[in-house]
Amino acid sequence: MTITQSQIRPKPLPTPDFDTEPFWRALKQHSLQLQRCQDCKQAYFYPRILCPHCWSDNVEWEEMSGKGHVYTYTVIHRAPHPAFGEDVPYIVAVVELDEGPRLPVNIVECDIERICVDLPVEVVFEDVNEEITFARFRPQEGAS
Ligand SMILES: [Zn+2]
Repeated sequence: MTITQSQIRPKPLPTPDFDTEPFWRALKQHSLQLQRCQDCKQAYFYPRILCPHCWSDNVEWEEMSGKGHVYTYTVIHRAPHPAFGEDVPYIVAVVELDEGPRLPVNIVECDIERICVDLPVEVVFEDVNEEITFARFRPQEGAS
């Protein structure tokens, strides 16, 4: 049996807190939910109790479409942490959802030669353990 780098040094995982727990709980149920301000109607990321556009605390969680496009990206060729050594090369991107918010994510199921700005993408869910599921994004079916 071969011991891999990721077994020696597991990947760091997020720690849900008061503000982010609903986000992570929804991902566990394979639902991408962000907060939307009920006063100015804008959705936003990252989770927080005040709307970043108008400072209202009248915000509600809402399921997003899971569709968007690549706003910007980079291809990681050198792992920033030993646990990511087996993943390189991989794509880190900022995806702009159709609803407006931008999320830092990994792009999966995508050749690095194919990644480009404006590529239409959709959410997929990666169950990591009992508590954590990640939202990843892949090219939409039929996207060039
Ligand atoms: Zn607002």
